[in-house]
Amino acid sequence: MNIIMIGAQGSGKGTQAEALERAKGLQPCASGDLLREHMATGTPLGMEARPYYERGDLVPDGLVIQMILDYIREHSSHGITLDGFPRTTPQANALDEALRRMGQRIDHVLYLEAPRALLLDRLGGRYICRAHGHVWNIKTKKPQQPGICDYDGSELYQRSDDTPEKIAHRLDIFFNDTIKLLDFYSAQGKLTRIDAAQPIEVVTKAVLATVGG
Ligand code: AMP
Repeated sequence: MNIIMIGAQGSGKGTQAEALERAKGLQPCASGDLLREHMATGTPLGMEARPYYERGDLVPDGLVIQMILDYIREHSSHGITLDGFPRTTPQANALDEALRRMGQRIDHVLYLEAPRALLLDRLGGRYICRAHGHVWNIKTKKPQQPGICDYDGSELYQRSDDTPEKIAHRLDIFFNDTIKLLDFYSAQGKLTRIDAAQPIEVVTKAVLATVGG
């Protein structure tokens, strides 16, 4: 089974992708995490993507599509949850085409819906673990020990693009552009809207009910 999570920054895509991994064994694949890894290790792709990332702009389709399709070809045997990809129609078309060639498909597209004010509030409290990108939040999902990831003991940090100006810019891109993908997947009959303003466990129940788990 392959799933796409669509949602603005702070809607909880990463957290729900982790829940789907625990419940259904689906491999989470977050395009933002992959880009941060490329930037941290200084690959050519990471160096090309960095200026876009640091401005809070979308990285060009060609770069992101190549990166994600390579990842899917290596990791998709037991199914995958895509988080943050696709964000544009060319990305969505490239994904459909690549999966079709592999004899696979997207089964469900979940839109984690939350109002902008709530997203702004959540993003201000968000911390990420160095080792694996696990997501914590000082308001909604506190680690047991401040500054340390419960899962792997690594240090937590705030992302360079989680400043108030860049957050506002990234949310604008989501609500003006990425949101158009809802029509794309609704036309394919794959879209389910989930109220992501609810507590994490309630959202997880809705996610699992949708995908059959
Ligand atoms: P995220 O961690 O999903 O919030 O992504 C962080 C940043 O990575 C975005 O602001 C973009 O600069 C870049 N990025 C991640 N996914 C994509 C994508 N599918 N298309 C273009 N840029 C992306």
